[in-house]
Amino acid sequence: MRNPKIEDFIVVGAGLSGLACARTAAQTGLKPLLIDRSLAVGGRCASKPVSPELPPWDFGPIFWHGDANELEALTKLVGEEELLPWPLKVKGVGLPCQPEAFEEGQFRRALVSGLRRWPEVLAQDLSVKTGVLARKISWNSEGVSLVTDQGILQARDLVLALAPEQTQEVFENSLAEEPQLASSLALLRQFSTLPSLTVLAWYANGPELAWDVWYPETSREVLLISHEASKRRYLSGNALVIQARPAWSEARLEVDRSLWAKDLLESAAKLVGQWVQSPDKWLAHRWKYARRAPGDGLKPLVLTKPGSPGRIAVTGELFDSGGLSSAFRAGERTAQKLLNVKERPQH
Ligand SMILES: Cc1cc2nc3c(=O)[nH]c(=O)nc-3n(C[C@H](O)[C@H](O)[C@H](O)COP(=O)(O)OP(=O)(O)OC[C@H]3O[C@@H](n4cnc5c(N)ncnc54)[C@H](O)[C@@H]3O)c2cc1C
Repeated sequence: MRNPKIEDFIVVGAGLSGLACARTAAQTGLKPLLIDRSLAVGGRCASKPVSPELPPWDFGPIFWHGDANELEALTKLVGEEELLPWPLKVKGVGLPCQPEAFEEGQFRRALVSGLRRWPEVLAQDLSVKTGVLARKISWNSEGVSLVTDQGILQARDLVLALAPEQTQEVFENSLAEEPQLASSLALLRQFSTLPSLTVLAWYANGPELAWDVWYPETSREVLLISHEASKRRYLSGNALVIQARPAWSEARLEVDRSLWAKDLLESAAKLVGQWVQSPDKWLAHRWKYARRAPGDGLKPLVLTKPGSPGRIAVTGELFDSGGLSSAFRAGERTAQKLLNVKERPQH
């Protein structure tokens, strides 16, 4: 059997951290290869329609947020016409997913075609293979070997840009061949990503709503309700995204989704009005890993092994303060760290 071609730079995970990492590598002249187990790029930065005739709604993060420099970069990337200051009308004083999104100096924007437009544009000039699941990694005399469900890939540098639990899974699968991964695995196990059960509900008719997003302070079930139609001018009727609180979600992760979706709609109806209980169309999505638990970010993790020129780096929101802009920054920083090293380690 022929040995696989050795890629300079492979990134596993085409979420924001993986895309930012691959783009930064591409800007230095490399031709990174991105792989993702899903059929689309973006990971948790996701939008989808509740039914084919409706436009896509955001069912992960509901808006982009970042500082002035990050907004300038985003505007250059997706175009000014794509961005809408949002949310303008915030109801409730419950804790948002990323409280820093509302701090001074932070800008908040909805994307008119859905938040997934951001990762889609980021991926445009990159080589991306979707539908490829990474299983395990090991070092060899030429670099790093990556076993996927579609065969083996080889790289000089390999970056895992996944949720920490997903990186743990790859490390666990690799331990028999690479026992030295045990210490990094122990470190990653200190961190967890909170789940989020989410319902997208569409109503052909419904009253005018006086808010764009509602963070209820008293509900034990509902973390937030987003009024999607307020950022999709071409979406008729009322469209709500209801995100459940992490503890409530955790307790129902293995429960049939039609049961928890009904309960979540009922809880939202108690807040907004009875009509919310009976959507004309709805979808339920189970995010097992939604957002990281609050905590400090880690420094970029780059692992090497004596006798091999290969490097394995780990990135993602864990390596910054958490959230989408944070995942993006961590990805950029990881590529910079790998590529600024002028000499590869000599053994
Ligand atoms: C419901 C919800 C609400 C959120 N709200 C906010 C918010 O308000 N503000 C905010 O800043 N952030 C929010 N977040 C968090 C934000 O979406 C994430 O921080 C960010 O998108 C993480 O990006 P990432 O690239 O690190 O990971 P991901 O987006 O998870 O990307 C990882 C990618 O790796 C792929 N993958 C996983 N395992 C494998 C494997 N073995 N092989 C190949 N591919 C694999 C996945 O398919 C995925 O595409 C929210 C997330 C959710 C789900």
